[in-house]
Order: sequence, then structure tokens, then C-alpha cells
Amino acid sequence: MVTQSVQADDGTAVRPGTTAGGDVDTSVDMLIVGAGPAGLYGAYYAGFRGMSVALMDSLPEAGGQVTAMYPEKVIYDVAGFPAIRGRELVDALVTQAAPFDPMYLLDQQAAELTHEPDAVVVTSSQGHRVRARVVVITGGLGTFTPRPLPTGTGHLGRGLVYFVPKLDAYAGQDVIVVGGGDSAFDWALALEPIARSVTLVHRRDRFRAHAATIGRVEASSVEILTFSEVAAIHGEERIEKVELVHTRTGDRHVRPAQAVVAALGFTADLGPLTRWGLSMARRHIAVDSAMFTGVDRIFAAGDITEYPGKVRLIATGFGEVATAVNNAAPVVDPAAKVFPGHSSDDGTSV
Ligand SMILES: Cc1cc2nc3c(=O)[nH]c(=O)nc-3n(C[C@H](O)[C@H](O)[C@H](O)COP(=O)(O)OP(=O)(O)OC[C@H]3O[C@@H](n4cnc5c(N)ncnc54)[C@H](O)[C@@H]3O)c2cc1C
Repeated sequence: MVTQSVQADDGTAVRPGTTAGGDVDTSVDMLIVGAGPAGLYGAYYAGFRGMSVALMDSLPEAGGQVTAMYPEKVIYDVAGFPAIRGRELVDALVTQAAPFDPMYLLDQQAAELTHEPDAVVVTSSQGHRVRARVVVITGGLGTFTPRPLPTGTGHLGRGLVYFVPKLDAYAGQDVIVVGGGDSAFDWALALEPIARSVTLVHRRDRFRAHAATIGRVEASSVEILTFSEVAAIHGEERIEKVELVHTRTGDRHVRPAQAVVAALGFTADLGPLTRWGLSMARRHIAVDSAMFTGVDRIFAAGDITEYPGKVRLIATGFGEVATAVNNAAPVVDPAAKVFPGHSSDDGTSV
């Protein structure tokens, strides 16, 4: 393969590329847009095929829908794992790719695509420019944007989060979880054994979460406040107190809190990807059986693709991205074959 290799990091940090010089920030064989399950597995596969690879994601953490929406849920239909928690699956995918030193460009939304004679250049909304011989789009539902907590302005990253990257960070804290859906209840349950106190605040008395999860939260030490909203968050550097208002009576009270988890859901939008000249089918990217989009050097895989009989599951995304990467290999290096050989034939033994 021809481009410079990139250095490893811990798999989660935002790390601007420094490998290319000139008019781009990063130069790799393969850019994967979307670090969900399909993208992460694609990073492993690209490495296995000898390609240097970068993953770009608009979220600050890898893992796509799994990390954003259900890291604490147990998944039962991933091949080889009778039951695996979402967070553990993402960690395992990051670990599987790590030997090949993928570069993670997190908090970067892939925005613009330009073509060069033997490469493409993708520029993020944040201005990071990546030159790649091929791109695999594993963008799932598109860029996730959390529904904001209206009273949270100015506190994001200073105690207010829209999803919980590391549970341990909440040890000994008083946490307010806002929302009435699965995510809110899952976070409340996951934080309960770690935090000093967890209060779940919802503006109605009906919840959208699964009945079993609601039952577990009700049976735990989590305090549930219905008909309540966050009226104000207090604290300069970090959150110190949260003011809650009863939506019916207007009564207000202030309670100590060092963290607010606003689990109000996400909107998803394909946004800039729709301007890349791709053939779209029912708000997804049409691909052929090689996962090729029809646009020079651009492949796609995972939830974002569309073809007759498409099934949107983690398992199918894994297969599709392996197909995409293997079919992209000869585009990067014309001497490469589509079939990769067997990973078990690489001469190592355990
Ligand atoms: C609550 C819930 C439970 C589920 N349970 C299961 C289950 O039990 N089993 C199962 O198989 N599936 C399950 N799924 C579905 C599964 O999560 C998806 O099929 C899977 O996440 C798709 O993976 P992906 O990598 O294709 O896309 P995603 O996981 O959606 O990841 C796509 C990533 O691309 C990023 N992105 C998009 N556009 C851009 C851009 N322009 N620039 C940069 N980044 C971008 C997004 O930020 C995102 O991180 C569940 C889904 C939900 C919501």
C-alpha cells in the first residue's frame, strides 16, 4: 500500500492527523466515515489487508448507535457472543482494530468530498482534511445530534452530558438524569451503584422505556420525580446545584448535583453525505453486491446502505463492511486481490 501509515492512540481521543503535510492534514489508504460497529470492524479489516486507515465520526466517542443509545443493554444476536453488553462489544471492536493503529478523528463531521486523479479528499465541518485512496461510508442513520436541554446552555462539558462515556467518572456524585425513555432509565440503572445519588427527572408521569427497566429503576435507590423539569443549572466551573420545577404546581426546589445527564434523544441527519453525488434510495445509500456506491472510490456498509432484502443489524453490517473493504483493496493497490485469504492462515498461533 502506498500512503504513509498513521500512529496509534488509545482509540477514543480526538487526534488531528499530522502525517501528510502540504494541503491535507491526514493521508491514508482508507478513510472510514462513521465509527459505529460497522466502521470499527472495517478498521480492523483494513488493517488486516495492510491498509493505513482513519475513522472519522461526528460523535466524541466511538461506537455509533450502540454507544449513543444503548451501551448498557445486552445484545443477543452478535455472532459468537451469546450475550454481550453494548459497551463491551464496542470495546472489543476497538481492541480488535488496535494492532493496526487506526487514526480516530472524533468530533469531526465528514462534510465535503472532492476528487483527485488517484484519491479523494474529505474535509470535515471542523476543517480537517483527509486524503484517502478510498472511502467507506458507515454512517448509519447519519450525524447524531442530541436534543438539547434548553436550560443547559453553557454547562455542556462542565457537568452536563448527552450520553455517558465513562461510568466511573460519576463515582460519589449526585447525578440528575433527565428523560423518560430507554436511555434515561438505562443510565439511571447503570449509574445507581456508582453515583452517590441518582434522581430521574421527567416532565410527564408516563415513560417510554421498557416496562421491565422501569420496574428495576423503581425497585432501586433511584429517586423518580415526575411532572418535573430542570429550571436552571447553577455552578461556574462545574455544576453545583440544579433547580427543579414541578410542571403542574410551579413549585421549585434546589438540590445539590455535580452532573446532569440529559437523555432526551437524538435526531439523525445524513446532512452533507447527501451532497456527495451518491445514489440515494429511501434515505439510504444504494450499493451493489460489492458495497460499491457507483461513485469513484466510494464504498458504503452497515445501516446506511440500501439494496433489495436489506436487513439493518450489527451482524449484517459486519459482513457488509468486510465485503466493502475487500473490494476496495484492489482500488488502493491494483495488485491486491478481493479475497483476503484467511486470518487464521497468518502463521501465528496461540
Ligand atoms: C435501542 C437500540 C437497540 C438495538 N439493538 C440491536 C440488537 O440487539 N442487535 C442488532 O443487531 N442491532 C441492534 N440495533 C441496531 C444497531 O445498533 C445498528 O444496526 C448498528 O448500530 C448499525 O451500525 P453502523 O456502524 O452501520 O451505524 P451506526 O451505529 O449508526 O454508526 C454510524 C456512525 O456514523 C457517524 N456519522 C454519520 N454521518 C457522519 C458524518 N457525515 N461524519 C462523521 N460521522 C458520521 C455517526 O455519528 C455514528 O457514530 C439497535 C438499535 C437501537 C437504537
